[in-house]
Order: sequence, then C-alpha cells, then structure tokens
Amino acid sequence: MSDLRRDFPAFDPAPDGATPTAYLDSAATSQRPRQVLDAERDYLERHLAPVHRGASAAVGLSTTIFEDARATVARFVGAGEREIVYAENATDAINMVALGIADASAALGGASARPLALEPGDEIVITEAEHHANLIPWQRLAAKTGAHLRAVRVDEHGLWTADDLAAELSDRTRIVAVAEVSNVTGYLAPVADVVSLAHARGALVVLDACQSVPHRPTDFGAMGVDFAAFSGHKMLGPNGIGVLYGRDELLDVLPPARTGGSTITRVTLETAEFLPSPHRFEAGTQPVSQAVALAEAVRYLEAIGMEHVARHESDLAARIVDGVAALPGVRIIGPGVGIERAGLVAVSVDGVHAHDVGQFLDDAGIVVRVGHHCAQPLHRALGITASTRASAHVYTTDDEVDRFVDALAGVRRFFGVADVPERAIIA
Ligand code: PMP
Repeated sequence: MSDLRRDFPAFDPAPDGATPTAYLDSAATSQRPRQVLDAERDYLERHLAPVHRGASAAVGLSTTIFEDARATVARFVGAGEREIVYAENATDAINMVALGIADASAALGGASARPLALEPGDEIVITEAEHHANLIPWQRLAAKTGAHLRAVRVDEHGLWTADDLAAELSDRTRIVAVAEVSNVTGYLAPVADVVSLAHARGALVVLDACQSVPHRPTDFGAMGVDFAAFSGHKMLGPNGIGVLYGRDELLDVLPPARTGGSTITRVTLETAEFLPSPHRFEAGTQPVSQAVALAEAVRYLEAIGMEHVARHESDLAARIVDGVAALPGVRIIGPGVGIERAGLVAVSVDGVHAHDVGQFLDDAGIVVRVGHHCAQPLHRALGITASTRASAHVYTTDDEVDRFVDALAGVRRFFGVADVPERAIIA
C-alpha cells in the first residue's frame, strides 16, 4: 500500500524534510488522490455544461458524463442506475428518506400508503449507537407521524446483537435504521440478520453505510436492504455529494423531499407530476463535477480491490487495539483484542479529557478526532462525554498507527494522572 501514498498530494514530503503529520481522521473525511482531483478539474476545464436541460451537444456530453458516473457508482454498490440518487451527503440522503416517508404518511406527493406511510402507534427502531444523522431524522419522523422511536440498547462496550434487535421489534415496526459500521465502536452490524428480522415483521431497512461503503465490498442488492446512504468525501471522493440508494419500486413511490426544476414531467399552476427515480429527487442544478470525481474515486478503490482495502484497515485496527490494550488507564471502546472490527478505534483515557488528548496528539503531529463524534447517546450509555478516535483508510501506514499508540502511552503521565508504581512512592 505504501506506493499509493504518492497518489495523494496531502502526503507529499515537506520541503524541509519535517516528519509528516499522521492523518488518522479518515472516518471524518478522507484524503483524495490526484486521479480524483484531476478528474474533477478536467471535467470543469473541458466539459462543463449543465445536464438534463437544453439541446446543445455540450449539454448532451455533460449529461452522458453525469449519468455514466451514476452507473459507475451503481455498479460499485450492487445497485441499478435508477436506484442511485445523488444527495449532498449521507445526512441529506437519510433525511430524504425520513422526510419522504413523512410526506407519504400525510398522503402528500402522490405516494401510495404501505409500505412507506406510517400511522400513529407504528414503530421506528434504531440503536443507541447511531450517528446523529441516523437518529434525529427518525425523531422528527416519529414526531410528525405519531410513531414511536425505539432504541436497541448497547452493552458496556457500545455493542449490540441481532438478539437485542429482535427484542425491540414488533408487528408495529415499520422501519429499522442502523449503521453497517459504527463510527465510534467500529462494530460491524449483523446486516443479514437485521434484514431478515426486519423483513419478517414487514419493516423496511435503512442502512447508514457511511463507514462501510468507503472501506469494504458492498452489494446492497444482495444484502436486501431497502434504503442506504453514504458520502463521497469519506471514500476518497469530493465534498458536496452523497448517495441515497433505494430499491427502485420504493423510490418510485417515495415523495421527493425537495421539489423544483429537473424533477418533473408536467407542471400546471396547481400541480406537478414527478419523473421516475432518480431524477424526481435531484431538484435544481446537479452536482456534476462532484459526480465525476466520485466515479473516479470508485474506479480508484476498485483498482485496489475492496477486499484488500478492508483487510488492510482491519489489520491496522487490530494493531491499534493490540497496542492500546497494553496501556494502563486507556479504555478501548467497541470490540476488544482479537475481535473483528472496521478500521477505526476510539479510546477513552482515564483522568484526561479527550480534547486534552487530542491537543497532546496534535502536538506530536497526529491528527485524530475528539469529542462525541455525533453520537451523544452512545457516549452517554458508556458513561463518558467524549472519546478520542483514530481512523484509517487505504493510505494509512503501520508507522502512523504506531505513532498514535506510542504517543497515547505518554498521555496520562504528561497530564499527571499516570498510576505511580508503588516502588516509586517508597523511594
Ligand atoms: N453516519 C455515520 C456512521 C457517519 O460516520 C457519518 C459521518 N461522520 C455520517 C452518518 C454523516 O455523514 P455526512 O456528514 O457526510 O453526511
């Protein structure tokens, strides 16, 4: 993997030969290779034109480029082209589902009732470990429809099982919304069980795939999920674009959360008829250069191979977990030593606030994420307010994660909370 670091301008050696920063915050946002940056620039310099409007050859070419990008993304995640809707990011994509279901429930937008519409007393099931992006939209949907929001509780490590989920389901469950990979614990959700348990109750599965699509092979069709969401900027791609996946028969009846130009077939002063998916959801001028760059990111990842990416990152996570497990006063959140997890590890350091840990690591040239990682209920369940997370991508090296573990080893001593060995006290 070390050769591919040359593709990333962010890792170019400093002219003064200074030790490079160890970027361990890829779960927040990933670095981008030249191929992706160049693809976006090339489109902007040579092919920029609107899409799906006008009759010029330039528009035709730009539209072809835009739709080809969609096909590339669709292939990458095991979807049909009509099942890939461009959104701003994963947050936006999840909101599109929740807002659309709210409209379907209020019989707006011409949607049929079941399977989308909710009634008072219906249930939406999430887990306590969800990112706020996969929590707050469901709170709003529950408030609008009179549905109840139920949460699968996590254990002392922040984990939950298929049995825990099964215990929260009932015949009133209409939606089960979970992350495939937690952005705090690195836990790999039992998606096959989630799908079969939810479908057995007649509920839809919404998968927050933000931390999985960028890092492991994905086939939404084979998984059988109903909706899924992910972001371009976490998968070596650009900001400003995310993806909503939806089974095409659901997308065709989901009311568009945003309306306006590009979404319609016929408009009168009183009414609008909407195009089929995906165009019914892509209101306004589309994120074309972002789509081009996203497709290039997909090709870049495919050339490496997603199995390879996943293995590389799990190995790095195991290396961190093994190293951190030996440090007194540092608690690993999520799966422990020897247990499979995704390429991110959050820790809590006894007696030192995560923000101080982050500052200490920053001084050592190590970039991590500190805080609640948009998962306050999870942190509350764990009895902490914040944690420190190191996360990897395909370009992350052993040396970088070793620097993280080595620096972490000195944190408690630096802040004066390290356990003092008994011998030292006697002396
Ligand atoms: N879900 C998870 C699990 C995430 O990690 C994130 C990003 N931290 C999101 C949703 C939201 O992604 P975005 O901010 O790109 O919309």
